[in-house]
Amino acid sequence: MILVTGAGGFIGGSLVRYFQEKGFSRIRAVDKKPLPYWYQVVPGVESLCLDLSEPEPCRRVCEGAVEVYNLAADMGGMGFIERFRVECLRSVLINTHMTEAAYRAGVERYFYSSSACAYNIDLQQDPQVRALKESDAYPANAERGYGWEKLISEIFCQEYWAERGLRTFIARFHNVYGPWGTWDGGREKAPAAISRKVIEAKDTGDQRIEIWGDGHQTRSFMYIADCVEGIDRITHCDELIATPINLGSSELVSINDLVSICEKIGGIRLERSYDPDAPRGVAGRNSDNTFIRKVLGWEPSTPLRTGMVPTFQWIERQYFDRKAGRRTVRDRL
Ligand code: NAD
Repeated sequence: MILVTGAGGFIGGSLVRYFQEKGFSRIRAVDKKPLPYWYQVVPGVESLCLDLSEPEPCRRVCEGAVEVYNLAADMGGMGFIERFRVECLRSVLINTHMTEAAYRAGVERYFYSSSACAYNIDLQQDPQVRALKESDAYPANAERGYGWEKLISEIFCQEYWAERGLRTFIARFHNVYGPWGTWDGGREKAPAAISRKVIEAKDTGDQRIEIWGDGHQTRSFMYIADCVEGIDRITHCDELIATPINLGSSELVSINDLVSICEKIGGIRLERSYDPDAPRGVAGRNSDNTFIRKVLGWEPSTPLRTGMVPTFQWIERQYFDRKAGRRTVRDRL
């Protein structure tokens, strides 16, 4: 049986669908959100609502699991992680109990979703960044809260392998976007937030857009289909046991570029204003894909302007569905 935690969220939900489409019939999906709030509930999958920050539910869900994909975390975009550091730090409980439960249940492969926020922030002070390679996490100076939680959880995964022989796999995701992601409510990330603002401007006729920071911050963005494929490839590569690896796109764009892409898809040009006091994160961040190319002979490659088309269209449908009083992907309680 395959277990996916955080399955009511963006990446977990997409991973469940991916495995089901690949033909796996025994999948268990778990999230602390009540089922009506899950972004995707995949038919034929055992879907459970449990809080995995407690040991007992972790033990229960690992029973009979052969592979575990732990994507459960309290997280969001910059607006969320800069404001709610305690919530982010407390996600350490999930991986702590999940690694122990997986080990006790004799799980064969355990995947942990880390983040580029685990990297040393001193290396991310310039928009024209040198892409981050795996060794750049140490000496450590991670994003306070969210980044440190990821680092310590990585260490758990590494030591459960070193001391107890649990085969763990650790990917450091760089900003993931796509349909079925959070697009409103405060936890959304830049691609979804900017798409929504463009859609709103078009709909309301107020042709202005407010951008967080000066718009020159740079990032790379990975399309969800690349992300789930990468998770699968990484978890089935024995060379990568207990070895953190970047899973991200290496196409560096500025937030201004991202706005232009959304405007083009939306067929509109907007007057831009900038909010220097808004949360903006590091100045620049990109993924160095040398290692993943070498080990897997593969890397996330969907260009941003390609992946943003279905993403924008999906958010547009969500926006109008909500306006019409129909069911949409809702923020958690
Ligand atoms: P998401 O918020 O959409 O999904 C996470 C899910 O975990 C949510 O549905 C939430 O309800 C669930 N959860 C939180 N606490 C829980 C608990 N105690 N028990 C059970 N479920 C719980 O986020 P996502 O974008 O799908 O992210 C998935 C993973 O990938 C997270 O670990 C995140 O830190 C990591 N990540 C994501 C990105 C990104 O760009 N989306 C980037 C780097 C890392």
